[in-house]
Amino acid sequence: MTEAFVYKWTDSINNKFYVGFHKGTLDDGYTHSSYVWPRFSMNNIPEGVSREIIATGSWQEMAQLESDMLDKAYSSGNWDQYYNAMRSYPNFINVGRPPVSKETKKKMSESSKGAVFSKEHRRKISDSLIGKKHSEESKLLMSEAKKGSIAWNKGKKIWSEEQKERIRQTSLNLPKKTCEHCGKQCSPGNHKRHHGDNCKYKY
Ligand SMILES: [Zn+2]
Repeated sequence: MTEAFVYKWTDSINNKFYVGFHKGTLDDGYTHSSYVWPRFSMNNIPEGVSREIIATGSWQEMAQLESDMLDKAYSSGNWDQYYNAMRSYPNFINVGRPPVSKETKKKMSESSKGAVFSKEHRRKISDSLIGKKHSEESKLLMSEAKKGSIAWNKGKKIWSEEQKERIRQTSLNLPKKTCEHCGKQCSPGNHKRHHGDNCKYKY
């Protein structure tokens, strides 16, 4: 079974490409997740557009391959020909990779110095991101990248005892809600979570 694959779309009319990886099967209907190239479905592929499967493998391998291919495309100077808005997610590049030496890091930092998006390009990306949800891929990558890191609120005292007591009192004083399905009376928070539309006695 294929866990993930790297694909390359070619738009022969505009002479452009889009490279990506996808966790799923070749025929699950997924097309691409470019932010700058209009979406289409497998049943509605635009004229002159075709997909090539570059490789299949584990999602880590495929994420790595995608990142390598985009790096290559970027450094070859044909980046304008790509519908990819980003080479890869900088924070996620190291997922599953061996540690990078100081020397390499210095090189990477120097080579990325020229890689600044123009204002226009950044605005385009930003506009296209408004209201967008993260794709399943990027959620997966973010979750992997965050593993082992410390939660933002760990060990921090967010509320004082006095504030906590005030919050407790406020919620105690809220009028109780009655569930239309089972008749139970409880606080608005509990009601919202366990009753009303979520009540197990709803039918
Ligand atoms: Zn209920």
